[in-house]
Amino acid sequence: MYGPPVAFHFYKHSIVIDEEYCTGCFRCAGICPTKTVIGARVIDGRKKAFVKEPDDCIGCMKCFNFCQIKAITCTRKPREYQ
Ligand code: SF4
Ligand code: SF4
Repeated sequence: MYGPPVAFHFYKHSIVIDEEYCTGCFRCAGICPTKTVIGARVIDGRKKAFVKEPDDCIGCMKCFNFCQIKAITCTRKPREYQ
């Protein structure tokens, strides 16, 4: 098979990280295959994960599956081609 998975072409994925519950373990950033989607920032003196490059997400759901407290939600919608 060549190129990215078919789902990448037809769907736009977006992840949301709930900063209230995020513990800053960064398991999600470590497992993300693109290594660009999830970053770190400090809120009230505590490190939190945040989505820094949403367009790079390929919707693999690894971050969702690796977050032990389920602070991540992932949605997808059809891409709009012009
Ligand atoms: S895996 Fe979950 S708790 Fe850990 S940094 Fe990512 S969002 Fe936060
Ligand atoms: S769904 Fe996959 S590509 Fe997207 S942020 Fe999570 S681990 Fe990275």
